Amino acid sequence: MPKIELITFDLDDTFWDIKTVIIAAEKNYRQWLESKVGQPIKWGTFEEFMRIRQTLIKENSALEYDLGLLRKETIRHHLNPHITNQNELNLLVDEAYEFFLGERHKVVFYEEVVEVLEDLSSQFMLGVLTNGNADVNKLGIGNLFDFSIASTDVMSNKPDPAHFIRAKEISGIDFQSTLHIGDDAVNDIKGARDLGINTMWFNSQNLPWDIDDNPPIEFNHWSEFKNLLSLHHGQ
Ligand SMILES: [Mg+2]
Repeated sequence: MPKIELITFDLDDTFWDIKTVIIAAEKNYRQWLESKVGQPIKWGTFEEFMRIRQTLIKENSALEYDLGLLRKETIRHHLNPHITNQNELNLLVDEAYEFFLGERHKVVFYEEVVEVLEDLSSQFMLGVLTNGNADVNKLGIGNLFDFSIASTDVMSNKPDPAHFIRAKEISGIDFQSTLHIGDDAVNDIKGARDLGINTMWFNSQNLPWDIDDNPPIEFNHWSEFKNLLSLHHGQ
């Protein structure tokens, strides 16, 4: 078995739980925006919110892989009835997005993630492959990674091969010497595996593997990771 030289990681739900972060970010950003506008904003139901996003994506397919731009366009949609001056609107959209992004980075790392990454960073090349808009440099762990690839960089989302191919180009390390870790069975595990990349599934929810008859190596706590790496890759 080839030696692992590069380890790539998903971020959301792999290093932290994203749902609680987004719920809090959404709530705080809404309050912030209403105080800026000085009146209540009609946010609609969750279903309406998702429908707005789908309509915006239909109008501009780049929004599918550019969550930042999608967020900005959603903010614009909600501000439109309140602000007619276009310059004022553009400024507030940018300001609101920055506020949301700040809230979105208030993550709580899963236990032992950072310790494990610190340990690995002295032994392996490490990379980030994310479909989201979290930035490791805003989380104080950017120094542990050699590179970071977001969907906007490759204009597609995992499980499409573009993230993985870009990682190979940047690192110069073959797929067979790469290990990808993520929580999503399809986006992370199947996507990587289809290219011949080694995988480990971070399965904190203990979900059943229902993709095929060949379940991946999995773990549900970061304290297990180093042992698994040693057991399966001898490193
Ligand atoms: Mg994820």
